[in-house]
Amino acid sequence: MSDCKNYDMLLIDDDPRHAMAFKEGLNTNGDNLSKLEWVRTLSEGLEKLADKSVWAIFLSLCLPDSSGIETIHRLSAFVSSSSIVVIGGEADERVCKEAMLHGAQDYLLEGHIDGYSFSRAVRNIVEREIARQDLFIEKERAQVTLNSIGDAVLSTDLLGNVVYLNAVAERMTGWSREEAMGRPLGDIFQIVDGITYKPTPNPLEMAIHLNRPVGLSANCILVRRDGHECAIEDSAAPIHDRNGVVTGAVIVFHDVNMARSVVQEMTHLAQHDALTDLPNRLLLSDRLAQAISLARRNHHRLGLLFLDLDGFKNINDSFGHSIGDKLLQSVASRLLGCVRKSDTVSRQGGDEFIVLLPEVTHEADAAISAKKIITELNDVHLIGDLRLRITMSIGISTYPDNGADAETLIKNADTAMYHAKQIGRNNYQFYKADMSLRAVERQSLEGQLRYAIEREELSLHYQPKVNLKTGAIAGVEALVRWQHPERGLLFPDQFLGIAEDTGMLVAIGQWVLREACRQTREWLDEGLAAVPISVNVSSLEFRNEKFLEHVQIALKDSCLDPGYLDLELTETVLMRHTESTKYVLGQLKAIGVRLVVDDFGTGYSSLSYLTRFPIDALKLDQSFVENILPKSNEAIVVSAIIGMARCLKQIVIAEGVRTEEQLAFLHTHGCDQGQGYYFSRPSVAPQFASLLKMHCQQQFRIGSVIPFHHNTRLPHQ
Ligand code: C2E
Ligand code: MG
Ligand code: MG
Repeated sequence: MSDCKNYDMLLIDDDPRHAMAFKEGLNTNGDNLSKLEWVRTLSEGLEKLADKSVWAIFLSLCLPDSSGIETIHRLSAFVSSSSIVVIGGEADERVCKEAMLHGAQDYLLEGHIDGYSFSRAVRNIVEREIARQDLFIEKERAQVTLNSIGDAVLSTDLLGNVVYLNAVAERMTGWSREEAMGRPLGDIFQIVDGITYKPTPNPLEMAIHLNRPVGLSANCILVRRDGHECAIEDSAAPIHDRNGVVTGAVIVFHDVNMARSVVQEMTHLAQHDALTDLPNRLLLSDRLAQAISLARRNHHRLGLLFLDLDGFKNINDSFGHSIGDKLLQSVASRLLGCVRKSDTVSRQGGDEFIVLLPEVTHEADAAISAKKIITELNDVHLIGDLRLRITMSIGISTYPDNGADAETLIKNADTAMYHAKQIGRNNYQFYKADMSLRAVERQSLEGQLRYAIEREELSLHYQPKVNLKTGAIAGVEALVRWQHPERGLLFPDQFLGIAEDTGMLVAIGQWVLREACRQTREWLDEGLAAVPISVNVSSLEFRNEKFLEHVQIALKDSCLDPGYLDLELTETVLMRHTESTKYVLGQLKAIGVRLVVDDFGTGYSSLSYLTRFPIDALKLDQSFVENILPKSNEAIVVSAIIGMARCLKQIVIAEGVRTEEQLAFLHTHGCDQGQGYYFSRPSVAPQFASLLKMHCQQQFRIGSVIPFHHNTRLPHQ
């Protein structure tokens, strides 16, 4: 015995031989830590024990004041922590064994008591204590471990009654260990199927029954005592005794609510567009494939609408990407409002959307949806302080008429959408077989446009601007043309869109600038009464970082006075109030170039740019001039614009003047300049040179007199 606790022993026995033998045993052991006291009766013993506790008690079951099993009962009631070894007569071994069920740890039989048997009994006590201590440590370790892990642990006996819950299991079931102990598992651990909500087979019973570990069924929901539900996952296993016999089972489970919602979130992200939260390409192709097989089985049609915003690039260029993004979100929610729940609106990327109508009876049904979308979308979109307008071009393909698989249906709807763009945007078109041909043509145009500059296929046509007070040619607009080797003369509408999409617009714009300046210089050199030349500049060209440099180079290389160059910018260029817009416009103005707003009135509602930027002239859009009739709304707007421009000291130029009535109206309302077929169509350089020459002698006559070209045949007319 080596630690320093109290190892005192008490012998309660009236046989002095036993006392002698014990003392002997103690001495032989050389144990000087232990003390042995001897009393002869139980009452003496209990008295001693009332004073102090002892480590071990040797108790005879045959005392003067007590005998048999009652003796151990009386002693056990008195002591709790001492080890008890009973001493019985050789014939009483049965009583001794019974005493062991009532608190004794060991027994000695009278005929065999000597120093050695005493020492052995003491050794046994020590060993039992060590074993008990080890067991305690082991249990404590298991207890701490079970309460420290994140998983819930619950175990039952063979009958399925709860025998253990760790802290996590207490929390997840809502039952404390004390309350749960001994209750049937079904009371504590209620699990249902996450989809059907029906009770699921109890995994513990299965583990016991099958005598092997089992996993929980997928989608398992644990219903807590207070009704709260929690998705769980894990497994149960049987517990065996030393002989391998099943004595119960343990289940380990954990909360997977979080993990499941992460998985759901990830799946959603993978299938939806982050900006609009609409289904993306991936989900659409899934739904489209399903819709096609359903339509095939049920012999019905389905419709596919391919939508593309008109001029969205301009919005992005003019207002920046964050406004563009908000507009896309607004478009997405409008689209959702236009379709039925069973339809799918998806975003393909950029400004392209696809609407899947999984069940249409006639083509006309798809047309109704397309019309509705176009109408709904035309309303102003309120984005912050901005009131933006945007239109859409829609291509429609139907199953089975225009394709039997998803890819073909999408491709054909896309082709139809291009067609809708080409015939003026803001409309819908059904796919027709010959459209594919046109799509192929567009592709070949793309390829050929790349070489148009170096093959010198581009040219400029010139259209005069006339001073409406004097009839003099006040300026000329340069309009680009492409002399296509097979298709003949192509107009800007037929190729500038392609140039923009394929990144060739800047190079073309640069060529136009150089050519316009070079030509004007040539006319001046020829001694003609040359006039300032207007060059159209698209938003994309203007945003190019080298734009200013391109203008300067064109002027320098041609030695043209900047006063001879006007730049026609669309409103979208001017709507972006950035430092760079201001800087570039300021620089252009500083070198002496004049700035004209083209297609004025078709753009956006804010006019603040008119005062913010150094604008010299406004070009009234053709649509106003076309509809000018006395007292018409257009007439009111035109005269208001003329009045406003006068106040701002800006010149007003009317585009698309075609009739004498239009001219008369503009003249009377004080419009400064006019341009249009009424005066002259755009013409090639030599023809325009002739016009300039003739014009030296006779000017356009305005007002009551018929203008110049009506009695003078121009070469191109
Ligand atoms: P825009 O700058 O508004 O040019 C006026 C357009 O109206 C020209 O069409 C012109 O031919 C046409 N036009 C002129 N008078 C009349 C008329 O009385 N009635 C009708 N119906 N039309 C008339 P064009 O040449 O086809 O050009 C179309 C647009 O292409 C131009 O509109 C301009 O925005 C753009 N564009 C033309 N050349 C260039 C260029 O070199 N660079 C850039 N970026 N854009 C250009
Ligand atoms: Mg123009
Ligand atoms: Mg215009």
